[in-house]
Amino acid sequence: MIKDVDIVIAPNLGDNMQEVIRLATQKCGWKISDVQRAEVIKRSVDARGKYARLQLRVRISDAEENLYPLTDFFWQNVSNSPEVLIIGFGPAGMFAAMELIQHGFKPVVFERGSDVRKRRRDLKAINRDHTVNPESNYCFGEGGAGTYSDGKLYTRSHKRGNISRILDNFVYHGAHPDIRVDAHPHIGTNKLPKVVENIRETIIQAGGEIHFDTRVDEIFTENGKLTGLRTATGERYRGNAAILATGHSARDVFHLLYRSGINIENKPFALGVRIEHPQEIINKVQYSCDYNNPHLPPASYALSTQVQGRGVFSFCMCPGGFIVPASTAPGEVVVNGMSPSRRDGKFANSGFVVSVEPEDWKSYGEHGPLAAMAFQAEIEKKAWEAGGKTMAAPAQRMIDFVSGKNSTDLNETSYIPGLTSANLSEVLPGFISQRIREACLHFKKKMPSYYTNEANLVGVESRTSSPVRIPRNPQTLSHPEVEGLLPCGEGAGYAGGIVSAAMDGERCARAAITIKKAAD
Ligand SMILES: Cc1cc2nc3c(=O)[nH]c(=O)nc-3n(C[C@H](O)[C@H](O)[C@H](O)COP(=O)(O)OP(=O)(O)OC[C@H]3O[C@@H](n4cnc5c(N)ncnc54)[C@H](O)[C@@H]3O)c2cc1C
Repeated sequence: MIKDVDIVIAPNLGDNMQEVIRLATQKCGWKISDVQRAEVIKRSVDARGKYARLQLRVRISDAEENLYPLTDFFWQNVSNSPEVLIIGFGPAGMFAAMELIQHGFKPVVFERGSDVRKRRRDLKAINRDHTVNPESNYCFGEGGAGTYSDGKLYTRSHKRGNISRILDNFVYHGAHPDIRVDAHPHIGTNKLPKVVENIRETIIQAGGEIHFDTRVDEIFTENGKLTGLRTATGERYRGNAAILATGHSARDVFHLLYRSGINIENKPFALGVRIEHPQEIINKVQYSCDYNNPHLPPASYALSTQVQGRGVFSFCMCPGGFIVPASTAPGEVVVNGMSPSRRDGKFANSGFVVSVEPEDWKSYGEHGPLAAMAFQAEIEKKAWEAGGKTMAAPAQRMIDFVSGKNSTDLNETSYIPGLTSANLSEVLPGFISQRIREACLHFKKKMPSYYTNEANLVGVESRTSSPVRIPRNPQTLSHPEVEGLLPCGEGAGYAGGIVSAAMDGERCARAAITIKKAAD
C-alpha cells in the first residue's frame, strides 16, 4: 500500500529521512517498521511564523517499489521520417523538436544564434567590451533566452500541458531531481547550458537536424499555405509545416511578417526597472528570527498592487542572483536577472514593472501592429543614452527615485557592465515612473525594510513578454491566413516563461503532425 502524508519539519531536519519517516508514520498511524520505501515528493518553505518550517509531502510504502518514477522517454530514429521545420531553438523549439521525435517525425531546426559554447564568448563581449552581437546574446542562441536565464520552472499555466513531464524531461537531460519536488523549482544559470547541450545531443542522435548560426529571413506561402523558408545565407527549404518559435526579441521576424502581409497584432506587456537589494535585507524581512539559518534557501518575494487602475508588480525575482544585460542589438539597454543554482550571490534582484496598455502606444500609430514594439524600443534607446551610450545601465537609489532626487552615488551592484547615476523619471514614461513611485510606498507598508536607499533601481526592464501577438487558429494552431505556419511560444504571445514555452512547443509539434498526416 502507498500513502501520501503531509508533515511539517524544522529546516535542519528536512534531509534526515529517519526523522521524516518517524513524523510521517506518527501522523498516519503506521508503524515505522511497516515502511519499506519513503520519498519526499513535495517541498516548500513556510515562513509565516516566527521560525520558518519546511512543509513536506512524504510518500511511504509497505512494499519495495519505485514511488515516484520518472517519465519514460523513447527517442526513435527519425533520420528518414517526414520533416517539420522549426524556427528558433529556445524552450519552445527544443520541446517541439523532442515531441516530434517521440512521434516519429524529424525536426529540422534553424537557430540564428550560436551553440552554448560559442555563445559564452558573445556574453563576455557584452559584459566586458559593451558590444552586442545581434545574432548571439543573452536572448539568441542555443536554448534561446532560457539558457542563460534564471531557470525558475514555476508556471501558473497548468491547463496547457503536462508540467511534470516537462520537469522530468529536464531531469532526464541532467537537471537536479529536486526540481520534481520543490514547490518553486529552479535549475540555475550555471546548470542550464549543460542541460541544453544534452537536449541537443538527444535530438541529433535521433536523426534530427539543428542548423546554428542560421537565421530565417523569409517565409514562402502559396494559396494560403506554407511552402517553405529561406535562410540568411540564401538556402531554401521546402515544407508544409513550420513552427515559428523565435521569442519576444526577434524584431526582424515581426517586421518580416508585417512586410509579408501576414496579420500580427499589438499586445499588452509590462515595463519598468529591475530593483536590486542586498540579499540579507530580504532574508531578514522574510525569515525574521531565522534569517541566518543555513538550512533555508535565500528568501524571495512576490509583490503586486494596483496604482491608478494599472497593475504594478515584481517580476522574475532572483534571490542571490545578478542583473544581466539582455539587449539584442547595439544602441539599447535592457536588463534582466538570473541566479546560479545555489543562489549564493550577495544580491537579490527582481523586475519592478507596470502593465502597458493600448492607450500607451497610441501615439506610435504609424507603426500599425508594431506600435507597442516601437514604444518599447524607444525607451530602451533612452536607457542607452542615459547610461552614457554604453551597456552601463541608468540607475537611481530607491528613496532618491521616490523623492525625485538624483543619486550622488550608487550602491554596489552585480551588473557587470556597471551603472550610471541618472534620473529614471527622464528615461521612463511619466505614467510608469509615477506608478513605480507610488508602488514603492505601497510595498513599504507590506515590507518596511524593502524601502531603502540600499536598493538600486536599474533601467530598463522592458522584455517581460512579447509586445506582439501572432494570431493562430485555436484548434489547428496554424496562422488563420497561412495553413502550416504555427506561431509558438513567448514571441507569438502564447507563453510567458520556460515551462509554458516548452508546453506550447509540444502542442505545436502535435498540431504540425496533424498537418503532415492530413497532407499524406
Ligand atoms: C536573463 C533572463 C532570465 C530569465 N529567467 C527566467 C526564469 O527564471 N524562468 C522562466 O520561466 N523564464 C525566464 N526567462 C524567460 C524565458 O527565458 C523565456 O520565457 C523563454 O525562453 C521563451 O521561450 P521561447 O522558446 O518562446 O523563446 P526564446 O527562448 O526567446 O527562443 C527564441 C529563439 O529563436 C531564435 N530566433 C529568433 N529569430 C530567429 C530567426 N529569424 N531565425 C532563426 N532563429 C531565430 C533566437 O535566437 C532564440 O534562440 C528569462 C529570460 C531572460 C533573458
